[in-house]
Amino acid sequence: MAKVKYYYDPKTLSYRKIEKTPAYRLRRSLIYVASIFLTSFFMYLLADSFIDSPKEKGLRREVENMKIQYSILNERFDQLSIVVDDIQERDDNIYRVIFEAEPIPSSVREAGYGGVNRYQKFEGYDNSELIKKTASRLDRLTKQVYVQSKSFDEIVEMAKDKSEFLESIPAIQPVANKDLKRMASGYGWRTDPFTKTRKFHHGMDFSAQIGTPIYATGDGEVIRADSRASGFGRHIRIDHGYGYVTIYAHLNEYNVRVGQKVSRGDLIGFVGNTGRSRGPHLHYEVHLNGERLNPVNFYYGELTAEEFSRLIELASQTNQSFD
Ligand SMILES: [Zn+2]
Repeated sequence: MAKVKYYYDPKTLSYRKIEKTPAYRLRRSLIYVASIFLTSFFMYLLADSFIDSPKEKGLRREVENMKIQYSILNERFDQLSIVVDDIQERDDNIYRVIFEAEPIPSSVREAGYGGVNRYQKFEGYDNSELIKKTASRLDRLTKQVYVQSKSFDEIVEMAKDKSEFLESIPAIQPVANKDLKRMASGYGWRTDPFTKTRKFHHGMDFSAQIGTPIYATGDGEVIRADSRASGFGRHIRIDHGYGYVTIYAHLNEYNVRVGQKVSRGDLIGFVGNTGRSRGPHLHYEVHLNGERLNPVNFYYGELTAEEFSRLIELASQTNQSFD
């Protein structure tokens, strides 16, 4: 049975029954519903700010995990940086020094990527700084490794050139020591065997029997093998590249033709007495960029220290050249 409610009417000084009109009932219901909504809403806000939902908990865990991963990543970057630094150090101070190349300036090695802000897409988040820092380290390392690999490419090229260069320059005696009678004459002022006047002797004379083998002193190409040069008689010229040319004069016979490629130590001809020559000998010259150098400085390929000093002594003693 529904409760009957009364109210006190001061005019009539009596209790009167409250009439429950439909409008009154509706209003009451609305207030009731609204208060339930409001209460739940505030409860929700309260709960939300203090208690995580399972989904939030999951996300928070994921973010924490990500931070750990980033710090592990950064530790590995540290280790990688040490390795790269070490390689750069060796590159600048050993490899590039061997090949006489300038070290790569640190401004080039350490350069990042300039210009527009590459990391804009990482901005505006709680962890933006961490992500930007990591990304820029990765970029810098990538650049360093790129510069380093370019440097190694360069070194490989230089090494190739260097070994070609070392094989090309004249570096042995053109006549074997065992075949030498004695050193006839070295480079410098000597008495001309024909005019008996003092004259500069631009080569080195190796006195040996006719038919003694003559060897190419470095890799190169035969550019002349003829007797048309005045005084030299039958002679050979070898172009070694890098500005080096060697001349072998007064030959008895050739063992090569013009245009032929020769290697150091190849038999190119035989000692003779042709041209302006007093007695069988080989006149040998070393030219660098057209300038005639003292050949005695080019025998480091095969002589011992003693043999070399004896050679210099003999070459400087003899007063008259064979020309
Ligand atoms: Zn000579």
